[in-house]
Amino acid sequence: MQVFGRGVFMMLEKYSIGIGDRFGRQGGAQLEAIMRAQAEGIAVVPVWNKSHREHTIIGTRPGDVRAEADAAVAARGYAGLYYVDADHIYLGNVDEFVAASDFFTLDVAEAIGRGPAAEDLKAFVRSYGDYAGRLAIDGIDEALEITQATIEGIGRTFLAAVKEAGRIYRRIEEVKGRGNFVTEVSMDEAHAPQTPVEMLFILAAIAAEGIPAQTIAPKFTGRFNKGVDYVGDAAQFAREFREDVAVIAFAAGEFGLPEDLKLSVHSGSDKFSIYGPIRRVLAEFDAGVHLKTAGTTWLEELIGLALSGDEGLAIAKDVYRQSLGRYDELCGPYATVIDIDRGRLPDADGVGSWDGEAFAAALRHDQACEAYNPSFRQMLHVSYKVAAEMGGRFYEAVERYEGQIGPHVTKNLLERHIRPIFGG
Ligand SMILES: [Zn+2]
Repeated sequence: MQVFGRGVFMMLEKYSIGIGDRFGRQGGAQLEAIMRAQAEGIAVVPVWNKSHREHTIIGTRPGDVRAEADAAVAARGYAGLYYVDADHIYLGNVDEFVAASDFFTLDVAEAIGRGPAAEDLKAFVRSYGDYAGRLAIDGIDEALEITQATIEGIGRTFLAAVKEAGRIYRRIEEVKGRGNFVTEVSMDEAHAPQTPVEMLFILAAIAAEGIPAQTIAPKFTGRFNKGVDYVGDAAQFAREFREDVAVIAFAAGEFGLPEDLKLSVHSGSDKFSIYGPIRRVLAEFDAGVHLKTAGTTWLEELIGLALSGDEGLAIAKDVYRQSLGRYDELCGPYATVIDIDRGRLPDADGVGSWDGEAFAAALRHDQACEAYNPSFRQMLHVSYKVAAEMGGRFYEAVERYEGQIGPHVTKNLLERHIRPIFGG
């Protein structure tokens, strides 16, 4: 058993929020939301995250995210802790992220289901076979029923993925040194959700592999589409989330993982209908959470542009018009995390006649507003590539209308996300 002592590792605070900023222009406005939350007594820290996929589509480098975060922190005089997350990285691209990042999301979903080496599986079953039987875990009413076959099955499905996480982790540790960064293991892009029992033995394997994981991102039941609300059974999600939190508390002690181990929810942003259940479970267990949002800050940029009228509104409409013509190309990379009803997408000419208020109302995630259109919102969410290709035209407008855009970014983060999930 590996023991990871408290204090030896860079500790991640109890509440952290992953913020995406596709174009890297809203670091200050995002930080403003965090600072206001902290002033209200909400102890949440920011983690700027950007994935390899986003970097590739926009043409940025991991160092740009670090520069953005550092500049925002300096400009606002922020004295708290903050992190830069190499989001969803794997062995093939970890090297590009090492220097700029101090938080690493090791994505091993691809390796789930890959058969482990026979001797690894044998050792795994030997180590954890004693857990077969009924296992009582604090906070879960019914004892978990575990058989030898369960344990072996979990080893078969997940062991290779954990070994892969170990390879990535050691690659980072070699360069950055032990304890100088936060490690997350993510399996959220797997095909099937992981059960609490699977989570338990995944954590056992992570500890045995010597990975001091501080956050773990499972796949939960239900749909976590980008930028829109949760689709699924919220009550079932709540039960599952509660059991996961209980299992994590148990596993941290049982397997000697870092004490600050907590769940990471890769939300895809805006899962308003499960924020309440998450908040209640966290309070019940006095547990922490890392909430990763997606790049919806870009949608606030579009809303701000649209409301600025003139060139800003023209750009917003232009992005939409072009996106319709490139539907397959733009939606392809996100096919599993969007559900666009094409019949509900307004045609480009219709949108061309809208004023800024109409554009913003269709896009803004306000479910009480009749004009809100989730298909329109998801379509624009994946269309950031179009804006990236506009280059100077887009960036100059974002700069020119910053006074209009920034407050939307701050308000969205603080009022729709931070307060509902972390607020008192
Ligand atoms: Zn994810």
